[in-house]
Amino acid sequence: MLKTEGIVLSEIRFKETSKILNIYTKKYGKIPVMARGAYKPKSKLIATTQPFSYNEYILHKGRNFYYLNQGVVIDPFYNIRENIKRFAYGFYILELIEKSIPEEEENERLFLLLEKSLRILSNIDEEFLKFIVAFELKYISFLGYRPYIDSCVICNNNHNLNMKFSNSEGGIICSNCFSIDPGGKSIDMLTIKVMKKLLFTPLDSLNSLETPVNILMKLHNILEEYILYNIDRKEFNSLNLLKSITDDI
Ligand SMILES: [Zn+2]
Repeated sequence: MLKTEGIVLSEIRFKETSKILNIYTKKYGKIPVMARGAYKPKSKLIATTQPFSYNEYILHKGRNFYYLNQGVVIDPFYNIRENIKRFAYGFYILELIEKSIPEEEENERLFLLLEKSLRILSNIDEEFLKFIVAFELKYISFLGYRPYIDSCVICNNNHNLNMKFSNSEGGIICSNCFSIDPGGKSIDMLTIKVMKKLLFTPLDSLNSLETPVNILMKLHNILEEYILYNIDRKEFNSLNLLKSITDDI
């Protein structure tokens, strides 16, 4: 028997009444969990097998899956599911975590970031884009790819106003070094400055930051590609939903 806190990333139906979940746990990282009978109307597992919900679990390990024996809700994060924008941004957060992390690799820092992000998201009514760009920066940093934006990654030059963001170099490069990554995306000084602020400001203190929407859109665009590059994926399904409900992304 294993005991751990976890957050449900996704669910799929299995046979008539069961669910296979992907749960991001504090102790064991991302694990596949079979919740037998979770679709039965009177199942005790209904609340603790919903995406976004944060629970304490008792599990046991089988050959292909972990099996869910018992769950106690810590926070259901109902507010996320009650608002289409919160839901769509939250769905993107869950997909980012699910797609980038190998199974059974513990990362408590990332777990705490996920938990904190869902808690903050469940109370947001506006400025979603600022929140999500700050999340993207922290998330990719915790995976080990913090973008280097103090000076040119290659030659350390910081007096050149003509900069690009390079996915392959993991940061900004100056015009002397453009040939190293011809696919770099132009990035101006103000955008770099906003990126730095969002990287170092805690998620629960973002209210104090003034951030123009056009710069946030540019940053999201750069980060989406930077994240996909580093986790070796082509696209995020959840962004299609987001794009259909907001013009910001
Ligand atoms: Zn350079």
